Amino acid sequence: MHFSDLGLKAEIQRAVAEQGYDTPTPIQQQAIPAVLAGHDLMATAQTGTGKTAGFTLPILHRLASGPNDRLTRVARTPRVLVLTPTRELAIQVEESVRTYGKHLPINSLAVFGGVGINPQIANLRRGVDILVATPGRLLDHVQQKTVDLSGIEIFVLDEADRMLDMGFIRDIRKIIALLPKVRQNLLFSATFSPDIRELASGLLHQPVSVDVAPRNTAAETVAQKIIECNREQKQDLLKHLFDSRGLHQVLVFARTKHGADALARTLDKAGIKSAAIHGDKSQGARTRALSEFKDGKLVALVATDIAARGIDIDALPYVINYELPNVPEDYVHRIGRTGRAGMEGEAISLVCHDERPQLKDIEKLIKRNLERVVIEGFEQSATAAPRPPQPPRGPRQPQVGRGQMPKSGQKPGGPQQHRSGSRHR
Ligand code: AMP
Repeated sequence: MHFSDLGLKAEIQRAVAEQGYDTPTPIQQQAIPAVLAGHDLMATAQTGTGKTAGFTLPILHRLASGPNDRLTRVARTPRVLVLTPTRELAIQVEESVRTYGKHLPINSLAVFGGVGINPQIANLRRGVDILVATPGRLLDHVQQKTVDLSGIEIFVLDEADRMLDMGFIRDIRKIIALLPKVRQNLLFSATFSPDIRELASGLLHQPVSVDVAPRNTAAETVAQKIIECNREQKQDLLKHLFDSRGLHQVLVFARTKHGADALARTLDKAGIKSAAIHGDKSQGARTRALSEFKDGKLVALVATDIAARGIDIDALPYVINYELPNVPEDYVHRIGRTGRAGMEGEAISLVCHDERPQLKDIEKLIKRNLERVVIEGFEQSATAAPRPPQPPRGPRQPQVGRGQMPKSGQKPGGPQQHRSGSRHR
């Protein structure tokens, strides 16, 4: 199948061709015709499957195909609302809209918390067709009456599972209540939990279901290894892996922001160019780290689960779990960052005594036992050494993990939220 077979407007096909894509990905093949036909959509798809273009392309087509007066009038209210859990994803989705819509007279804007609201208000006033927003900041705009959602024709909930994990359900329901009753709804989620099912059943009307990424896909295709070791050996073992295997472009997962910072510093000191990305880093620092990582200037990027979600890096050769996640699904998300698009990928997990329960949960979820590898000089002892005292944690270093995220009704405030609006045309 070719993009030209999908019946998208010539301007959109041109933008797609300029990106160098000729074949739609499986999610695009299924989602684009359904969205073009006006159906609601329930899509199970992770980042990396091409899901963003899967909804952006047909949305652009629909907007540009309607009565054109709406595209030229001055005081526009948004026609499309895309809700995303994080500022990074909001920025990326809006960038995709801009990329694929560059030959169309369509405006887009990303709004998210942590930055001044006034520039966003000014941009909203100028007129926006496609609004990409995180829930908290969107509700701030609603409260200040600086956004009018009564003209929304298409509503997209991106990474719905992550939104629920982050405690956004109440905000989402409030936002849905502000939308016109008749509209098209698209829901994207990496997993299809009972909570998502419930949300979907209230939101979607006779949806077309698309499932391109059953949650164990990555678990089946990525080469995975477990290195059993002692907790106190992990740093040396990690450095040894970098040195002995000449690893490059490695995404290393740590469980906490504090841990990610400390590990990046340690690696850096050992001559392995590294940076950490997590929710306490400024957007500038994150963007810089990410682009240096993509350019190969950094050998390792140390990330927390939430910071890593939604970052757009194609086909990483290696993912290393310095620590296992508490939530087994996060393991599948993590290793899904490698081995994409038919490339070889390897995921290595360093597992100490304390993490055996997490490992058991992961193996249960992915329904297979992972290969154990022993590295000479780093063999695990029969029993765990007593835990060293933990450094005290300041108030600005809350642990990032599902259990620690704000619950329903609270907005994730402070460092979790972010930073600047972007806009085009
Ligand atoms: P996403 O899953 O939306 O985060 O997209 C993952 C990556 O795939 C992005 O870098 C896109 O630019 C890229 N991509 C999207 N669609 C295609 C396609 N049809 N062919 C090749 N790459 C694509």
